Amino acid sequence: MGKKKVYIAYTGGTIGMKPSSNGFVTERGYFTRQIESYPELYHSEMPEFELHEYEHLIDSADITPQDWYHISQDIESKFNDFDGFIVLHGTDTMAYTASALSFMFEDLSKPVIVTGSQIPWSEMRSDGKDNLVTSLVLAANYNIPEVGLFFHNRLYRGNRARKLDATGFYAYQSPNFPALVEVGTKIDVKYDLLLKDPEKMLRVRHIAPPKVVVLSLFPGFPSHILKSIFESDIQGLVLMTYGMGNAPSEDKEMLKLLEQASNKGVIIVNCTQCNKGIVDMNGYATGKALLNIGVINGFDMTPEATMTKLSYLLSCDLKIDEMKQLMQTSLRGELTV
Ligand code: ASP
Repeated sequence: MGKKKVYIAYTGGTIGMKPSSNGFVTERGYFTRQIESYPELYHSEMPEFELHEYEHLIDSADITPQDWYHISQDIESKFNDFDGFIVLHGTDTMAYTASALSFMFEDLSKPVIVTGSQIPWSEMRSDGKDNLVTSLVLAANYNIPEVGLFFHNRLYRGNRARKLDATGFYAYQSPNFPALVEVGTKIDVKYDLLLKDPEKMLRVRHIAPPKVVVLSLFPGFPSHILKSIFESDIQGLVLMTYGMGNAPSEDKEMLKLLEQASNKGVIIVNCTQCNKGIVDMNGYATGKALLNIGVINGFDMTPEATMTKLSYLLSCDLKIDEMKQLMQTSLRGELTV
């Protein structure tokens, strides 16, 4: 049997950046040259790989749904030629991209691993080397039919991961779902947690530019702002609520505006501001008030998964009721029901 083959889509991000007088920046060719002279990547036990450097390398703060589409098309076009796929990406929005791709790839049968680093590859203490070497090993050799996010010795389900540390190497966590793989002296793949192998062929869906707003409540929230939001062409609202999904029930203006919008067909999803735990709108009257006016449950989805899933469903040409039902159903293991 020949060597396994991995395709690496290099989109930008710190891993390949170069220092400049304006801080770290991307530069075409810079990262590709660096990895060509890194011996571990060519060790006899490593898979073969092909690195495709994108023409327009970005800081991931600039990522758009158009870029997600481009990445998904790129992977789809190479799908039969490689055993696994890596997306090298900036850490800032990596959780959004991993979530978006998880919804866009239907019936995925091979690993797609999104990774990057906190310190550029060219710097002495870069964490990018470990992240890329281990991602290559995982993408080539393990049957992981999922979009995962690999960081600091853990592979997380992509739509469960969150960046929770701006500077630490242990930057990502998956607060509501265990890591899929833990890497130490051994590689421990939690096969019982993985999504099942699909029976159908891969299909790739598009996410249209989202007409979605993510809004976080806070004490004294000026409800009238909702009026102008709902006067726009918005189709979905991710409402970041307190605790188990509570909002101020004495703010009648807010409840009325939310109810009117929901009646008009805006999908309003209740997502907790807490990092861990699950929304239960029956727990308190303040949550029940939202349930009563048509707000739907985001369960334990991360804000990134909620936003990308809502945008994905809004792009799928579905009826409102179907979208609401699917929003509250696990499609790619993104929520616990
Ligand atoms: N700003 C960078 C980016 O997201 C940060 C990183 O990659 O760590 O592209």
